[in-house]
Amino acid sequence: MYLIELYKSVQGESSFTGVPCIFVRFAGCNLRCAWCDSEYTFTGGKPFTADQVIAEIEALQPCPLIEFTGGEPMLQARELLPLMDRLLATGRYTLMMETSGERPLADVPEAVHKIVDVKCPGAGAASDSFRLANLDALTANDEVKFVLSHRADYEFARNFIREHALESKCGGILLSPAFSKTPSDFRTTDNATLDPRLVVDWMLADGLPARLSLQIHKYIWEPRKKGV
Ligand code: SF4
Repeated sequence: MYLIELYKSVQGESSFTGVPCIFVRFAGCNLRCAWCDSEYTFTGGKPFTADQVIAEIEALQPCPLIEFTGGEPMLQARELLPLMDRLLATGRYTLMMETSGERPLADVPEAVHKIVDVKCPGAGAASDSFRLANLDALTANDEVKFVLSHRADYEFARNFIREHALESKCGGILLSPAFSKTPSDFRTTDNATLDPRLVVDWMLADGLPARLSLQIHKYIWEPRKKGV
């Protein structure tokens, strides 16, 4: 499999926010979200065998939480899924995966906590990429994330949540204001392209069963810092 980086930090998003986590970042993505903060993953990457990835993870212990991210990790499902099985079989790890939901998710082991990103119109060329059949692959372990650039994205998310009774299909719904591609060096919500205060107002007004999600690594460290 081809990886961009493998490192230990704290989880920046989801209900695991703030928990120490090993990140395994896969190379390559078939989407091009307008607000993507991981364009450095699109090309390159270093080849790893499953044994090498496991050895790197073991060298970073103790840290039982592991996230597979990218890029889009499911583009390398043939190598990734057996790796997940091997790690789960040890009984020592909790696994997470960040995915766009464009690739089929039915074969991902149920124990893996999937964070599935449903692309809103503001994602540009990537919008409409979510594979609806993946709703059937969601479990209570999983969370669905909407990155919001403006009010129209919020309304798309709200309507999607209601239309699919999303809160009954997964363990949580995340609304995440998009972040500027050219942020300042200041660790502030001014770098969000949609003011989080507006998202809170809208969620409360609509009684939406969702959680505001800020990427805390962009507030703990300088927003452009990688490997954190
Ligand atoms: S799916 Fe993720 S990595 Fe791919 S373009 Fe969108 S934000 Fe970037």
